[in-house]
Amino acid sequence: MKITGLKVYQVDLPLHEGNYSWSEGKSVDVFDSTVVVVETDSDITGTGEVCPLGPVYLPAYAAGARTGLQELGPQLLGEDPTQLVKLNRTMDRVLKGHPYVKSAVDMACWDILGKVAGLPVCSLLGGRYGEDVVLYRAISQRPADEMAQNVADYRSEGYRRFQLKVGGRPDDDIERIRAVREILEPGDKLIADANTGWLMHEAMRVVNAVRDVDVYIEQPCPSYEQCLSIRRNTTLPFVLDEVIDSVDAILKGAADGAMDVVNIKISKFGGLTKAKQARDLCVSLGIAMTIEDSWGGDIITAAISHLAHSTPTEYLFTSTDFNSYVTQSIADGAPHRVNGRMSASTEPGLGIAPKLDVLGDPVWECRL
Ligand code: MG
Repeated sequence: MKITGLKVYQVDLPLHEGNYSWSEGKSVDVFDSTVVVVETDSDITGTGEVCPLGPVYLPAYAAGARTGLQELGPQLLGEDPTQLVKLNRTMDRVLKGHPYVKSAVDMACWDILGKVAGLPVCSLLGGRYGEDVVLYRAISQRPADEMAQNVADYRSEGYRRFQLKVGGRPDDDIERIRAVREILEPGDKLIADANTGWLMHEAMRVVNAVRDVDVYIEQPCPSYEQCLSIRRNTTLPFVLDEVIDSVDAILKGAADGAMDVVNIKISKFGGLTKAKQARDLCVSLGIAMTIEDSWGGDIITAAISHLAHSTPTEYLFTSTDFNSYVTQSIADGAPHRVNGRMSASTEPGLGIAPKLDVLGDPVWECRL
């Protein structure tokens, strides 16, 4: 089988809540997502998506994804989309770095492989564990009382895990954490995600002030070394996210005892192939994971569901349904949450069909 063409689409994903805000005053109103359709010399096509969390979260931005695809795409024509590891080696040879650019192509090729095999991607990624997977809800940064109300509202929709966006002024963040924990029940999980927003002295103040609270602390500071220092000075369970972008980072974190949970974001690693490698390594090392991406619509949510559903249940800390945050659907067949949980499609491939009427004309394409 050969790749004969790539089509790249741009689509805006507005938010039900109007905007999404996190540490240091960062905010996005409308997500700018990129969809890639990979065409082959058979009648099978595959679809992938990449959606950075604005330009200020990871070293990734929406226009960069599309520019990178124009560099990468022509060099993939004629390659076999079903030979995923080999294809990834080719992508790494012709474009150094830029994992998020490669993510949508890799995702689309897993969709193709599943359709060729007649199996859901979930099966190809290792097997399906249980009926469904547990989701968290990210709670956009607002004043403490509004965040507590939002948590109460989402809890009534079935969510039991909440990721509070902190990383603001420490006094405000302490109030946010306490206000939200107050309204939760035993068994609910609360994660305070600072998204690198605290200096070390601020992080120390917060972890000391909430030491009696049942809360996880996520990525308090920008660097690995800073996070490790906070980790060594708190008894609260600890999550690393932004600095965990490679197998090397996982191995170093495991050797240092730097975290209890890591977040595996598909585009941060460069696609499902490398995210699977990271996921399998974490299982071998005994590290629990949140399986997700930086952001996305229906296609990324489908890809997340397959990787999450093929993760042994006890290692899956949480996952996420980004398509429920946005007002625009871009594919049929994507998973939709039921009671704070979702399940991967049982259809071949990712189990989705892009809505071409919503995507409009491609912004760029190449073909053999
Ligand atoms: Mg995070």
